[in-house]
Amino acid sequence: MHLLERFAGLLDDADQARYEGAVRGGARRLRGRVIWTVSSSARGGGVAEMMRPLVGYARGAGADARWLVIEGTPAFFEVTKRLHHLLHGDPGDGGPLGAAEREVYEGVLAENAAALAGLVAPGDVVLLHDPQTAGLAPAARRLRAIVVWRSHIGCDDPGDPEAARGWRFLLPYVAAADAVIVSRAADAPPGVDPARVHVMRPSIDPFTAKNAPMDDAAVPAVLAAAGLLAGPGRATAPVGRRDDGSPLRVCRRADVVREGGPPPPGRPLVVQVSRWDRLKDHLGVMEGFARMGDAAGDADLVLAGPAIASVADDPDGPAVMDALLAAWRALPARLRRRVHVAALPMEDGDENAAIVNALQRHAAVVVQKSLREGFGLTVTEAMCKGRPVVASAVGGIRDQITDGLDGVLVDDPRDLGAFAGAVAGLLADPARAAALGRAAHERARRESLNLRQLADYAILLGRLVEDRLAAVRSSATPPEAA
Ligand code: UDP
Repeated sequence: MHLLERFAGLLDDADQARYEGAVRGGARRLRGRVIWTVSSSARGGGVAEMMRPLVGYARGAGADARWLVIEGTPAFFEVTKRLHHLLHGDPGDGGPLGAAEREVYEGVLAENAAALAGLVAPGDVVLLHDPQTAGLAPAARRLRAIVVWRSHIGCDDPGDPEAARGWRFLLPYVAAADAVIVSRAADAPPGVDPARVHVMRPSIDPFTAKNAPMDDAAVPAVLAAAGLLAGPGRATAPVGRRDDGSPLRVCRRADVVREGGPPPPGRPLVVQVSRWDRLKDHLGVMEGFARMGDAAGDADLVLAGPAIASVADDPDGPAVMDALLAAWRALPARLRRRVHVAALPMEDGDENAAIVNALQRHAAVVVQKSLREGFGLTVTEAMCKGRPVVASAVGGIRDQITDGLDGVLVDDPRDLGAFAGAVAGLLADPARAAALGRAAHERARRESLNLRQLADYAILLGRLVEDRLAAVRSSATPPEAA
């Protein structure tokens, strides 16, 4: 079966036909060109999660798609993390963004641009992701590539001064891109010609180890093998397929900070899966859970994220984890026994994905209490699995959940009382939680599967190729750049 046809069992027929047609049309227009996806990490975050299968499908449809990961220094990632926070409207570490930071940023990207120059041919497409790679746009343009910059970050307040600071740093590079993609219209960079800005909703893959169906026995087996639930705790029998199709077993254990043993399989779990980033507000989740008191019933809280050392472009991880563990130690002992802070093994991406898959499926309630959010793929993943979600009404989460219909939104992300009340409400009312979960699944199925985003990319990149050809015909551009 052709890769794209796999979606036929999930999508409505008309959508399947429309998306497939768009992808094939795009692949035809892109023939003879390489599509270079450039990001700063091959794992451990939403960009990597999304691009890996999309690159595979694009190839399956006949496009020559490839993926490059840039190299950076700790000083570079400190600057790009600052930019990341600023574009979210958050001051981050409050550090400067002056000439010295520009020098660090441009210095690292100049080395990466040199590597790009050996690979990219005129007329290729260079698809850059997030602030880490934006500075490659001028170099890619000089190589006469079609340059697209994709931002996965957003800020709910268009006049935010922190975001404006971040944009001042980045806009000179972004200006070199032929097109800019954002996840929501409100996330468009200020001052960029609206005709060059395209809104593209992110998506997930229903067939990967992260999201593929898992049978009822496999879920607790995976969690026990990973040390997250009580059980035999041995490597599992195959629990699904790796993304390359071979059988997948889970044998590595999470590094869990807890008091006492893992929870028994029957205990309800409130789960947040996130990178160790302050904007994911792990501290707030824990404090909100503590506030629930008896209303939490017999539920435990699991805060899970990638093993700290594994994500090179996320330098705040250790400090976020330290602060979280200090707060955990300060909890009364009866609460420490109910809160599990889990660093998930990252050596094997499919194994990590299977653990996240099982955690999300096992959760009584999935939470995403972000203070800011680009889109929030963890919300999409949980909805796709039919789980009830309680999430802050920030960024793209607002596009995914309609409060009370297919999840619960907490208007003010800092309102711990409202958060605690929303989670307790669902724990106390499993029938309502199940109804929200069913509606969530249906919405994610219609709106958030990869074939739709692949079609969006195919249409946009195909149009950019046509524009380039038209520009050459009108002779403004040398023919070899077509
Ligand atoms: N994720 C993961 N393993 C972890 C923690 C997170 O695979 O230990 C994944 C998570 O399942 C999701 C992505 O990382 O696919 C996070 O994407 P999201 O859009 O929620 O947030 P971002 O990290 O991009 O800010």
